[in-house]
Amino acid sequence: MSSRPERRELERELAGMVGRENVLTEEADLLPYSADHFLRGLQHYLPKFKFLPDAVVTPLETSQVSRILRFASLHRIPVIPRGAGTSLAGQLIPVEGGIVLDLKKMNRIEPRVEDRMVVAGPGATYAELNRELERRGYFFPPEPGSAMACTVGGMVSTNASGSGAVKYGATRNYVLSLEVVLAGGEVVRLGRKVAKSASGYSLKDLFVGSEGTLGVITEITLRVEPYPPIRRTTMAVFPSLEGAFEAAMEILGRGITPASLELLDELCLLALNMSGFSLPEGKGALLLRSDGRYREAVEGEMEEMVRACRGKGAETVGVEDEALGRRLWEAREKISASLTKLLPSPETPRLVFQASVDVGLPLSKMLEYVRRVKALMEERGIMGVCFGHVGDGNVHIGSTFVPESPEQVERARRFQEEAIRLALSLGGTLTAEHGVGLWKAPYLEEEHGYALELMRSLKRLLDPQGILNPGKMALDGIPRVALMERWWEEK
Ligand SMILES: Cc1cc2nc3c(=O)[nH]c(=O)nc-3n(C[C@H](O)[C@H](O)[C@H](O)COP(=O)(O)OP(=O)(O)OC[C@H]3O[C@@H](n4cnc5c(N)ncnc54)[C@H](O)[C@@H]3O)c2cc1C
Repeated sequence: MSSRPERRELERELAGMVGRENVLTEEADLLPYSADHFLRGLQHYLPKFKFLPDAVVTPLETSQVSRILRFASLHRIPVIPRGAGTSLAGQLIPVEGGIVLDLKKMNRIEPRVEDRMVVAGPGATYAELNRELERRGYFFPPEPGSAMACTVGGMVSTNASGSGAVKYGATRNYVLSLEVVLAGGEVVRLGRKVAKSASGYSLKDLFVGSEGTLGVITEITLRVEPYPPIRRTTMAVFPSLEGAFEAAMEILGRGITPASLELLDELCLLALNMSGFSLPEGKGALLLRSDGRYREAVEGEMEEMVRACRGKGAETVGVEDEALGRRLWEAREKISASLTKLLPSPETPRLVFQASVDVGLPLSKMLEYVRRVKALMEERGIMGVCFGHVGDGNVHIGSTFVPESPEQVERARRFQEEAIRLALSLGGTLTAEHGVGLWKAPYLEEEHGYALELMRSLKRLLDPQGILNPGKMALDGIPRVALMERWWEEK
C-alpha cells in the first residue's frame, strides 16, 4: 500500500482512467457532494461539520470503475458510490473525504420484456426506466417518493420502496442479478438473468440495502410486472385517528390487498389544506388506491374499501375524479415539504427529523405506536406529523427542531431515541425504507445485537481496508457527527 496522493496527483491519475472531463477537484465543484439536506441545516449552527471529498469521478463503464477501485485500494482512498443523491439518512456524506463515484452516466436501459425483465446501468433513473417499460406495457413498481430523480443503483443499494409496497413489495423483490465491482477492483456477477434460481448462497441479496459499503453495483437485472392500466384513488377522512386505523385493518382483514393504503394524521390534513386542497376536516385520513387490468374488478375493490371507511364514519372524496386522485398523490409526495407551512417561523433553519424516524412495525402494533409517539411529542413539546404506509406497517414521523443550544439538541435526541426504541420494543425495525446511513447508525446494534457483528465480519471480508463508504451503518465506528450528544464538543 502506498500513501494517499495529494490533490493534483490524484486528479492526474483519475483523469488517466476516465478522461479529464469526468473528474472534479475544485472546491466549488465538490461542495454539492459534501452534505445532505440534514447536514446542510446542521452546518448553519455547527459549521465544524464540513466533509469535502477529494474528487468526484464520473465513470462511463465497468472497466473504469474497476480501475478506480484498484487504485483506491492501493492508496487506501475512501470511495463513495453515488446515484442521484436523494438518500435521507446521510449515506453519501464523505466523512473521511475520498473519491465520490458519480454513476449517473452509466445509465443504459435494455428492456427484455419477452423475458419479463430489464437490464439497466446503476445510473438509469427510476422515471426513465419506467418510461421505457410502460411503453411496452410493463413497469418496475416500487415507486419511492423520490421517483422523479432517484436511480436504480441507489434504489437497489437502499432497498427502496414506496406507497405501492403493500401490493408490489420493495426493490429487493425484483432484483434477479447484479454485476458488482469489489473493493480490490474484481468484477463479479451475482445471481442469474432468470426468474428463479436455487443455486448457491444468494449473494446478490447481500448487496441489496448495503448502501455502497460492500461494492459498486455496475449492472442490475430486474424482474418487471405488467402495467395495470386501470387505477382509482379515494381519500377517506375520519373523525378520529383510531377510525382510520380500524378501517385500514378491516380492509386488510377482508383479504383485500390495495395498491396503496396511506395514513395521514390531522396535521398532514391541515398542511394539505393550507397547500390549496379543500379536504374535509378530520383527525385522520386514508389515501387508498386500487389498480388492475379490469375496470370492474378495480372499481369493485374500491367500492368495498369505501364501504369499510364509511362504516367507520369517514367522508370520502375522489372516487370518480381521476384528476383529483392524481393531485392527491402529488400532494402526498410533498407532505414533508408541506410541513414547513405549519411552522411558526418557516424562515428559521430547522432540522427535519423525517429522515430519522421511518420505522416499520407489525400491523397490529401500528396504532399503539402512533398513539404513544404522539403522547411523547406532546410531553417533549415537539411539533411533528405522523404519516405512513399503513398497509405495510411503515410509519414516518416528520418533526422539526432548532439546534441552537445543547438543551434543544438533547430534547430532540431523546425524542428520536425514544421513538426508535419504542418501535424496537414493539417488534419493529428502525428503518423500513430510508436506510441506516449515518443518522440511524447509533441505534443499529439495539436492533441487530450479535447479527451486527456478523455484518461487520462480512464487511471486513469484502472490504478488508474499509475503503467503501466508510463511517456508515455502524460497520466501522460511528462518526462524531452522527452522535448528537457529541455535537457541542469542540464547538
Ligand atoms: C423527497 C424524497 C422522497 C423520498 N421517498 C422515499 C420513499 O418513498 N421510499 C424510499 O425508500 N426512499 C425514499 N427517499 C430516499 C431516497 O430517494 C431513496 O433511498 C433512493 O433509493 C436513493 O436513490 P439515489 O439514486 O438518490 O441514491 P443515492 O442517494 O445517490 O445513494 C444512496 C445509497 O446508495 C449507494 N449507492 C448508490 N448507487 C450505488 C451503486 N451503483 N453501487 C453501490 N452503492 C450505490 C450510495 O453510496 C448511498 O449509500 C426519498 C427521498 C426524497 C428526497
